[in-house]
Amino acid sequence: MACVVPTDRLPVPPLSALGLTEFADFENQPMSGITYKETYFLQRSAAATDESLHFHELVHIVQWHVLGPKDFLLQYAIGLNEQGYLGCPLEAMAYEHQRRFDAGEPSYSVETEVREQTLALKTYAANWARLGDSPGQTKEPALAGSAYKVHTPIVTYPQKRRISRPRWDVNTRRTK
Ligand SMILES: [Zn+2]
Repeated sequence: MACVVPTDRLPVPPLSALGLTEFADFENQPMSGITYKETYFLQRSAAATDESLHFHELVHIVQWHVLGPKDFLLQYAIGLNEQGYLGCPLEAMAYEHQRRFDAGEPSYSVETEVREQTLALKTYAANWARLGDSPGQTKEPALAGSAYKVHTPIVTYPQKRRISRPRWDVNTRRTK
């Protein structure tokens, strides 16, 4: 289920006011839509005409559903902080599906693909978290059957905490 709310003012969280000043850019950028759980809000001007924007927000609804609020917000915040708005994996995924929609590519199960890709991200994040809790290890997280391949990330403990996290490539939708 999904609900759409046309509005003159999008409910963007007051991140700077909460002390999260690193997200000021996100807060201040011009936005046409934002999704929370199964509800998405659109600028009234875009809500009536912009089919592509509806599609984009529906991708986020599937992501929210797969991850749940806690993991969605965590993944989104980490992505935003490390790779910026467009590089944030959850946004990159939504924009890529939107691009295919806009290009009129042959129809496919968007929900199935988004589910699979979001689950792969979740596995990926969980593996990183697991490695982060294991001092002395240097190895790659396993990503069985995942669409997201990890290339030589290095985690070194315990002297100095050095984590080289793979970067997300917007174009290939893979880490690099
Ligand atoms: Zn988005």
